[in-house]
Amino acid sequence: MESTPRDRVQTASRIGALVFVVLWLLSERLQSAIPFWLPFAILAAMEVEFVVRGIRERRADVEPAEPATMSRRLPGADDADLGWVETVDEEGEPILVPAAPRSTRRTRVPAILMLVVAIGLFVYAYRVDRDAGWSSVSATEQARAEKRFTAEAARIAGRNVRVYCDDAYSFTGVGSDAAGVAFISRGVSYLEPTICRSLYRIAFEGNLGPLDDAAFAVTVLAHEATHLRGIRNEAETECYALQEGVELGRRLGLGAETARALMEAQRARDLSDATVVRLDYRLPAECRNGGKLDLRPNDPQFP
Ligand SMILES: [Zn+2]
Repeated sequence: MESTPRDRVQTASRIGALVFVVLWLLSERLQSAIPFWLPFAILAAMEVEFVVRGIRERRADVEPAEPATMSRRLPGADDADLGWVETVDEEGEPILVPAAPRSTRRTRVPAILMLVVAIGLFVYAYRVDRDAGWSSVSATEQARAEKRFTAEAARIAGRNVRVYCDDAYSFTGVGSDAAGVAFISRGVSYLEPTICRSLYRIAFEGNLGPLDDAAFAVTVLAHEATHLRGIRNEAETECYALQEGVELGRRLGLGAETARALMEAQRARDLSDATVVRLDYRLPAECRNGGKLDLRPNDPQFP
């Protein structure tokens, strides 16, 4: 059976969904941005749509009922078992013609294999999601972690503040810092769940995790805590955060070298980030060793 456009679309969408799921499994960023069940839901919806359309089309094919009299139809696949089929020629005389060979029935194996692979990936993605997400941390542990993050933020802010992990994403996201938000007057900060998960990994599981994520998470906590100190300017805040981040990383359990390397990497990323959205965050020239924003002018190391 030759492949119809419909078959090709279906195959392409299956491959597309599969590629997406694999990418999702490999990218923590993608995992934090898109719930794991979404690609599966889209795939399932497409499969259902294909099946429903297929049934409808088959019905449409059957409907034009031919007269029950001796038909002039050509022998089809259904007649193959007979070998010869009786039909009528141009003049209406009955004749015998060899039946068309039964089309090699499309094997069901690929569909079943696809289903097995999809279910396997779903289970695996569910596990990854559960382990990677902040929701995988028990409520007691979450409370313990928030307490810890609060203490660290208070230390940087120099006053009583409160840090929450914003598991409902009600405050973090568009319109605030990339992964956190600080309300200076209330002394409250909300962090994105992925940030909390990374910080928890570092402070409570003794595991650095992906370097980029670790560096970013430490920076975000230091950044929001610096806001809570009363600093509103984003560039200044980020510059202080990179410096505070070194000590913060150490207090969270990282080695001195690692903590500094993370902040150096984050600084390099901040400097190379030329996106318009991040313009406010661009590190000022004074953010350097011995510059006006150097928190430790006598320390030759920066940040
Ligand atoms: Zn900020």
